[in-house]
Amino acid sequence: MKIDLLDSESEWFVKEPSPLAPAKYATIGVLRRTLDYAAFRTEADKYTNSVATPAGRKTHDVIERALILASKQKAVERRQQNKLVRDLYPDNECYLKDYLCLECPVCALNGGIKAVKGAGDVSIKSRILYQTAFSVLPFDQVVESITFNAVDERTTKTDQALGERELVKPDTYFVSTVSILSPTVDELKFYLYSLFNTTRYGAETRGIGVIENKLLGVVLSDTEEFSALGVTMDFYDNLIAEKENPQMNFVSALDVFHDVCVESVSGNGQRIYKKDEVVQIEKDIRSAEITKSWLQGMFKTSKKFKDVIAADAKK
Ligand SMILES: [Zn+2]
Repeated sequence: MKIDLLDSESEWFVKEPSPLAPAKYATIGVLRRTLDYAAFRTEADKYTNSVATPAGRKTHDVIERALILASKQKAVERRQQNKLVRDLYPDNECYLKDYLCLECPVCALNGGIKAVKGAGDVSIKSRILYQTAFSVLPFDQVVESITFNAVDERTTKTDQALGERELVKPDTYFVSTVSILSPTVDELKFYLYSLFNTTRYGAETRGIGVIENKLLGVVLSDTEEFSALGVTMDFYDNLIAEKENPQMNFVSALDVFHDVCVESVSGNGQRIYKKDEVVQIEKDIRSAEITKSWLQGMFKTSKKFKDVIAADAKK
């Protein structure tokens, strides 16, 4: 998979994943927009996950925000990555959550634990570091309580109400930042490819939960750059607060990200992709295709990575 804007920085990336990962972080800003109702909640709970946070940096107001927990983002995206691998390698036996192979590119990135003969439990740490994603707008503007009724099939009469559920409304924007520790250039491409191809998040993903992921920024440096909450607060200050008709959209968010948030980038050895470059990277990745031979190269380094870790565990 050739992505010129990333390939031209290949010197910065590691050549293969290693247990002694140098402090290199590819930090990615993502705008996640619901295109349908979505259920972001903890299992067996009908309430949407939420927390009170400062509205913005320029105000003392505190607002309640809807959340997509880091663990929920990770689970969905890892499943999508596994599916991508299985499409080309149908024999690859790697399944969440108890049959992880630790040898495939997905395990090398997301980590896992497995008992290996002679080495005991071998564990790989996740190198994809998620943060909670926050809604830009307050909870009461993005969440709706919907009453569900059961219809009796014989009488077609509506039975008693099944109860109320809270759902996040369509066209709600969440800000997410994801850092990948010491990635190879192919690992970053693979993550971005899977990110753009993951379309359903949240509980009950069969009926609802369609999300569009848009790339806001990519920074390569020696530290994790943006915090998701910090970017959310910047968006609130610049797009929502004191606006007569506050409106969120991708283009204005992209502007604020590059005019305001990028200012806070502090790490060394940085490569901050500019706005038009970020748009180009997304375009290139979306139109790219994962081939078996390309994935084969990733398998080679991920298998070696596991062997090194297993050998360390034996010592
Ligand atoms: Zn695996």
